[in-house]
Amino acid sequence: MTETLHFIDGQFVPSRSGKTFDKRSPLDNRLMGTVAEGGREEVDAAVLAARRALHGDWGRMPVDKRVAMLHAVADGITQRFDEFVAAEEADTGQPRHVMQHAFVPRGAANFKIFADIIKNVPTESFMLDTPDGAGALNYAIRKPKGVVGVISPWNAPFLLMTWKVGPALACGNTVVVKPSEETPASATLLGEVMNSVGVPPGVYNVVHGHGPDAAGEFLTRHDEVDGITFTGETRTGTAIMKAAADGIRDVSFELGGKNAGIVFADCNFDDAVEGIFRSAFMNTGQVCLGTERVYVQRPIFDRFVAALKARCEAVHYGRPGAPGSNYGPLISQEHKAKVLSYYAKAVAEGATLVTGGGVPQMPADLAAGAWVQPTIWTGLPETASVVREEIFGPCCHIRPFDTEAEVVALANANRYGLSTTIWTQNLSCAHRMAAAIEVGITWVNSWFLRDLRTPFGGSKQSGIGREGGVHSLEFYTELRNVCIKL
Ligand code: NAD
Repeated sequence: MTETLHFIDGQFVPSRSGKTFDKRSPLDNRLMGTVAEGGREEVDAAVLAARRALHGDWGRMPVDKRVAMLHAVADGITQRFDEFVAAEEADTGQPRHVMQHAFVPRGAANFKIFADIIKNVPTESFMLDTPDGAGALNYAIRKPKGVVGVISPWNAPFLLMTWKVGPALACGNTVVVKPSEETPASATLLGEVMNSVGVPPGVYNVVHGHGPDAAGEFLTRHDEVDGITFTGETRTGTAIMKAAADGIRDVSFELGGKNAGIVFADCNFDDAVEGIFRSAFMNTGQVCLGTERVYVQRPIFDRFVAALKARCEAVHYGRPGAPGSNYGPLISQEHKAKVLSYYAKAVAEGATLVTGGGVPQMPADLAAGAWVQPTIWTGLPETASVVREEIFGPCCHIRPFDTEAEVVALANANRYGLSTTIWTQNLSCAHRMAAAIEVGITWVNSWFLRDLRTPFGGSKQSGIGREGGVHSLEFYTELRNVCIKL
């Protein structure tokens, strides 16, 4: 049994109230341990520690030393790679190879890339003519935003949390992280790494707990928090934006998606099937960038549906690291109930069930876990709930289309605008689609291929702002202008 504590001002501490909540395994619903339930006192202590560090050692540290320290954090993660993999596995139940090849290495990379960027970003300068002919020099400087509240979700906990903490610290801010209540382990483990490489107390703080009327909301309402960076549901983003309005705090939001995958008849068929399979079913469909709406050009529609069905029916459910296992459970019983309610709704709304639609037969030791089958539907109108709403599960609806104009209209007819994946060998078509589809990121003949120097974020109700590369500086720094009369 584990006991997960807060990390405040460089120390691992329980809640002063003594309150905890249970953490259960998604694999078998077994009680794994308890997690400290943070309240106002813990949020207050963490925010004040962050404020002290901002004006103390961290704030005074030369950039070169800060950059070296963040490289040491990345190296510290790599040295304890297996522990981070184990922490993420235990919390999420996802296959080991996903943690090993995607989620944990990205955690380390998120510190390195922003440490390097901060050393190499110029700011602008202008020479202004003045009536006396002497002129005035204007130049811009970047300063840290201050204390940043980081609120992160459960679907790729370490990757998504460090995606915010990396640039925040590189820019000289201090942070208070409120990880998802479902996945507290890796954020806590990172506290050990911070201490071991000498990051001053108060620079990185973690308060565990829930969202509404709990640690999450207390953090977003704290008047010593200067900005809030959030990844999660659009509905939660709405609540956080309202909280941030008090005190006019800045927000950066990465929110939900209902992404379209578009497959043209001229695509490389096998690559497209594999690409759409990954985008719809990796991480058991719990990926914001995932594909829950698939549009396939009519000449290859039946063949594509059959191939994707076969791919779904070949998954191997199992514990992370078990031989052959490549497919995990959903995060929780609560999320399982939500996904299954959509499975029932799809059939009630008239879908043709191609495969899945329920709970797989599992061995006795895993029967109580949050397992659901990968599921494909066809035959629904675009107004059906499962075609319109984000389910965040392993499922997709596939619909045939005939023309480019038709599929652009279908893809754009949604309130979300996060990402799309397009499969074609016609480069001109790919460029036209990329310009026409209203999303923050378009992948062509690929998916989840990320260059961390590029802008990342969503349009419409999928987010506010862009993070990644120099774009992260827009949120994590204040740009000041200095005007000197010569
Ligand atoms: P969620 O919004 O339920 O929770 C995210 C975090 O917000 C958790 O830490 C939670 O405790 C906290 N929270 C909840 N209510 C709060 C409140 N009122 N005030 C402050 N904090 C609050 O999201 P989730 O279920 O953990 O994650 C899944 C969602 O995240 C999906 O919608 C998915 O699309 C989205 N997501 C988006 C991206 C992206 O980059 N756009 C990436 C990953 C996940």
